[in-house]
Amino acid sequence: MCIFCKIIDGEIPSYKVYEDQDVLAFLDISQVTKGHTLVIPKKHYENFVDVDTETMQKVMVVAQDLAKSYMNKLDCTGLNILSNVNEVAGQSVFHFHVHIIPRYHATDDVVIEFKESPEQDLPALQNLLKKD
Ligand code: 5GP
Ligand code: ZN
Repeated sequence: MCIFCKIIDGEIPSYKVYEDQDVLAFLDISQVTKGHTLVIPKKHYENFVDVDTETMQKVMVVAQDLAKSYMNKLDCTGLNILSNVNEVAGQSVFHFHVHIIPRYHATDDVVIEFKESPEQDLPALQNLLKKD
């Protein structure tokens, strides 16, 4: 059983901030910033691309609701909402989860940097990626 399934089952303790029949949200043990939270479905799915649409909707609705209340309850000025897919992207627990990371300063302990790569052929990429 994966570590988050054990948290759902209560085998591993956690600090829960939301729970219903399908979704659980609890404080991330690492607290990259104060209030760092994970929102997960109770049913095991590997990651963002594996999860079914109905479950995704439920998880994201809870994530948005918590995000809104965190903006009031914490002294944060923003949030990062993210989900890592596979090891290359930093996924370390293979049970789908959405991180809610409150942000306090641009220089806090979260570094997400978008560097430009101008050599990309945008029309070719559009052709490849657009949905029919
Ligand atoms: P990932 O790296 O897969 O995107 O995120 C996994 C997150 O799970 C990490 O931020 C890590 O701190 C958190 N985590 C791992 N094990 C536990 C645990 O036993 N309890 C809690 N609350 N968080 C955990
Ligand atoms: Zn699991």
